[in-house]
Amino acid sequence: MRASPDMVCCPVCDALHHLTREPATGEKARCIRCGTVIANGKPQAILHIVVLASTALVLMTIVVFYPFLELRTGVFDSRASVFETVMSFSQGIMAPLSIAVAAFVIVLPVARLGLLIWALGPLSVDRTPWPGAARALRYAEILKPWAMAEIFMVGVAVALVKLADLATLSMGPAFWSFAAIVIITALKDTQMSKHSVWTALDTATRR
Ligand SMILES: [Zn+2]
Repeated sequence: MRASPDMVCCPVCDALHHLTREPATGEKARCIRCGTVIANGKPQAILHIVVLASTALVLMTIVVFYPFLELRTGVFDSRASVFETVMSFSQGIMAPLSIAVAAFVIVLPVARLGLLIWALGPLSVDRTPWPGAARALRYAEILKPWAMAEIFMVGVAVALVKLADLATLSMGPAFWSFAAIVIITALKDTQMSKHSVWTALDTATRR
């Protein structure tokens, strides 16, 4: 089999498919072996991605500035936002850690959402893409493995289990927003068929 532009590789099981035509609006092309969506009907999927990314971006502002956790141990009462938590390590030997946490948990996820919206925003409402849309989409893909909001969430969960015996804990609005972001991001990534997004961007740029 010779490589051709209509070939799509299943992201899960690597089966190669010949996509003889792009799926129509609302249609989905699934992998014949494992059923993973490999291409989406254009307007629906791209609109979903942009809406989910925008929602996550708005929730991110809540995450950064509103209280994340509140700890109470009789006399001692403390609440902290993610921003404060990150900044609390900003002096001395822990500074690099502070920068790394800020980068992986806040800066990279926000950058990735911004890039996605830049690349696909106009396309989702059938407008000509903004300049640099293709580059923005490529960077968003490169950043994907480095935006680790969900890893942070797992870390927090582990810490909560350890702390539960020592203090009364309550989760602030930022905690729930962050949990929502993790779910929204996962949903967005399942919606995002690389093939469909690139094809749509390609056609719109050439128009
Ligand atoms: Zn498959």
